[in-house]
Amino acid sequence: MNDNYIARRVEVNGIVQGVGFRPFIYQLANKYTIKGAVANTSSGVSIHIEGTKKDIEYFCRDLTDKRPPLAHIVEIFLYDEALNHYMDFTIEDSRGQSVMTTLISPDVSVCDDCLKELFDPNDHRFQYPFINCTNCGPRYTIINDVPYDRPKTSMKHFIMCSVCQDEYDDPDNRRFHAQPNACQKCGPHVALYDNTRRKIKTLAPIKMAVTLLKSGHIVAIKGLGGIHLAANAENNDAVKTLRKRKHREEKPLAIMSYDVASVRKYAIVEKEEEKLLHSHQRPIVLLKKKEPHPIAEEVSPRNRYFGTMLAYTPLHYLLLKNDFTALVMTSGNLSEEPIAIDNEDAFKRLSPIADYFLMHDRDIYLRSDDSIVRSTAGSTRFIRRSRGYIPMPIFIDKKVPPILACGAELKNTVCLTKGNQAFISQHIGDLENLASYDFFQLTIQHMKRILDINPEIIAFDLHPDYLSTQYAQEQHNVQKIQVQHHHAHIVSAMAENLLDGPVIGLAFDGTGFGTDRTIWGGEILVTQLDKFSRAAHFSYIPMPGSTAAIREPWRMAVGYLYNAFGEDFFDLDLPLLKEIDHKTLKIMVEMISKNLNSPKTSSLGRLFDGIAAIVGIRKQVVFEGQAAMELEMLAGEKESAIYDYEWVREDGFKIRTSPIISGVVKDMIQGIHPSVISGKFHQTLIRLFAHLCEIIRTESGLKRVVLSGGVFQNSILLTGLIRALEEKNFQVYTHAKVPTNDGGICLGQARIAAELAR
Ligand code: ZN
Ligand code: ZN
Ligand code: FE
Repeated sequence: MNDNYIARRVEVNGIVQGVGFRPFIYQLANKYTIKGAVANTSSGVSIHIEGTKKDIEYFCRDLTDKRPPLAHIVEIFLYDEALNHYMDFTIEDSRGQSVMTTLISPDVSVCDDCLKELFDPNDHRFQYPFINCTNCGPRYTIINDVPYDRPKTSMKHFIMCSVCQDEYDDPDNRRFHAQPNACQKCGPHVALYDNTRRKIKTLAPIKMAVTLLKSGHIVAIKGLGGIHLAANAENNDAVKTLRKRKHREEKPLAIMSYDVASVRKYAIVEKEEEKLLHSHQRPIVLLKKKEPHPIAEEVSPRNRYFGTMLAYTPLHYLLLKNDFTALVMTSGNLSEEPIAIDNEDAFKRLSPIADYFLMHDRDIYLRSDDSIVRSTAGSTRFIRRSRGYIPMPIFIDKKVPPILACGAELKNTVCLTKGNQAFISQHIGDLENLASYDFFQLTIQHMKRILDINPEIIAFDLHPDYLSTQYAQEQHNVQKIQVQHHHAHIVSAMAENLLDGPVIGLAFDGTGFGTDRTIWGGEILVTQLDKFSRAAHFSYIPMPGSTAAIREPWRMAVGYLYNAFGEDFFDLDLPLLKEIDHKTLKIMVEMISKNLNSPKTSSLGRLFDGIAAIVGIRKQVVFEGQAAMELEMLAGEKESAIYDYEWVREDGFKIRTSPIISGVVKDMIQGIHPSVISGKFHQTLIRLFAHLCEIIRTESGLKRVVLSGGVFQNSILLTGLIRALEEKNFQVYTHAKVPTNDGGICLGQARIAAELAR
């Protein structure tokens, strides 16, 4: 015992459970001959330390500087304590407490140490598909409650064997308190079934699944956050069959490869992209296709990109090690339903699609689809923020009351706030069917429980018909705050950039309910956190047939053509008009002129659709934004010519679409190639918006421009507009933490609600 000893209590909040934090503390304590104890609490980790002043200083310094790779420290509190005269340093059991503020780690891809063991014939976990340690493995998807301990996870059904238990109890072991720790002997197992649910008798189910994939079969594979449908990505027939059975005719399918060397066989991988592929979140990364490449055309038709991820579970590695360039790994669902996670449910829903099922007996408590990112304009851009990133919070500019924000309709996510942290849910999907709506409610309940948040305020979209709106309206004893869609978009980007208003906000997307009850989507809003004014927008164009005009862009084309040319458009020498019979065109015009089922929209997404139809890309789409995406894919990037543009001044600026449409039509009639037209259209928008921003700056003095909305998934527009604005000395802010599409809107709703709350 040392007379110079003092005692302190250190409380660490953040992601400090399930990430090897306590063994790290234990080893640190031994390094500086510190006595005491560490325990997980519901608020993080609590450490009682006794030692010399100097050693305690070193200890506290290393605590933050040398923390384990997955740990994320939010705050540290230091308190004076009385000496307890500890003889050694110990790791205590978790202490349950009433306040639960701890952060849970996202799911983490298998680490290099575990991978080495996986392929080491002398290791006792050789080829064991559930190998993991404190540095890797499942987390969020297997947790049912906090604190994060085995009985609160889906590993509770597996009793550790003595070898695993010894590792689990040994603070010097990499598996010390690794909650999902398991081995062949005591842990979960995989089994192979046919699509009538008959178990295939084999000692090597994984090997057999490989053989089946090689011979062109479709295999459902249970993974981390859900079940994938897999097929050999080099086999065009297999991929085609998968598409047909899944009713997914057009959307690109995600693929998975063993390593970056395999990816380079079919895609161009830049440095930043390689980093993303390798990150422990293992998102799907959009990569430019390499030509020629061995991947089946059906994987990503009419698209310049592949959505690619690296293997992230041991099972993936065991499968892909068998000379696959890539496997299609698409979510196990029918079109837009939530991804299947439950074995029972999977057999029911997926047996019409999959020939075989490679399943396991570790339950997934909460589904989490693969995340999708792209590296554009110097940053990572989320298209979908889900597995690997959830439930890491977004830190906002101030502490706010507990809020639930319900998101929008498509690509729904929800947000719960606690202090200055905004927790955005995994991807829920399009709230257009009951299954998605159930998942939406389940996610809210689950997040409220594991984050211990009881919302006092509920924020939701202005659209009266959204299911998320209806859900919010049905809640009691909370303050309800309705938020305009595009206001939420801009504030979402402001929130992640820690911005206060006012700013010039460019909100461009497909659909959002406007305060005048029309459909907005091409809005320049002078935005503050609590309010906005509409500085400019595209002039209103009718959508003949309402939502049918979203599915059938040719209807939008008619809307734009009629607006630009009146009835003269019938005589235009456009291929599109020859493909539609005259009677149908007449009906459209009648609907428009008599204002029958033709709501008005200022949407930029629809303008993309309309032009895509006029230049002959497609008359119909299978998913929202498809035509616009294909128009971007087609664009010649070197184009510098532009179309005329103009606006009129009324309340704000009204951007007329007719000069652009006239220019496009003229080019089409002259036989100009659609890729040139698309390039010119993109350049026109960039020049037009930069020009308008200058005028708004002159009048308002605002220099900060914020870009948000699904249209900014368009890389040409995003990159070009950032450059054009920066050349004019604007400060430009974009999304890099949450999606620019509706998947990020809940963050804006929450931030606005915090401002408007009583
Ligand atoms: Zn590991
Ligand atoms: Zn074991
Ligand atoms: Fe939107």
